[in-house]
Amino acid sequence: MKLTKQDCALIEIATKVAKDNCDIYADLSMHVGCAVRAKSGKVYVGINLKTSHSVCAEQVAIGQAYACGERELDTIVAVKMNKDGGTRVVSPCGLCRYIFDKFGISLNVIVEDVASGKILKVPAAKLLPYPYKRERKLNTNRSDL
Ligand SMILES: [Zn+2]
Repeated sequence: MKLTKQDCALIEIATKVAKDNCDIYADLSMHVGCAVRAKSGKVYVGINLKTSHSVCAEQVAIGQAYACGERELDTIVAVKMNKDGGTRVVSPCGLCRYIFDKFGISLNVIVEDVASGKILKVPAAKLLPYPYKRERKLNTNRSDL
């Protein structure tokens, strides 16, 4: 999908979030800002929380959107700060792709095509073609469990 003016603005917001909060980590190698636009038009942001069990910026932004009552998300983008202070759009990790599948069925994701260097917008479902789906409940009455 072609990027819209709103998508370019979303990238700028995620970039600003990354830059404005770069004081948190001495090492910028893993510093990411994120912006997600809900169907309402409101934008929510997040940064990654780097610990031994890190939380991605996308997860923080989605959590903020849901905490504020949003239930339908439109587009999300994450921007990583490089050590030299430059920025670039980054693709979501595997866990974030799974979370997109669970919380943003029609969510679009702005990613970088590493091969071409182009910035693209793709449906989240394209990023996780064979998602885990629980098809049956466990039978807790079984004696062998
Ligand atoms: Zn992630």
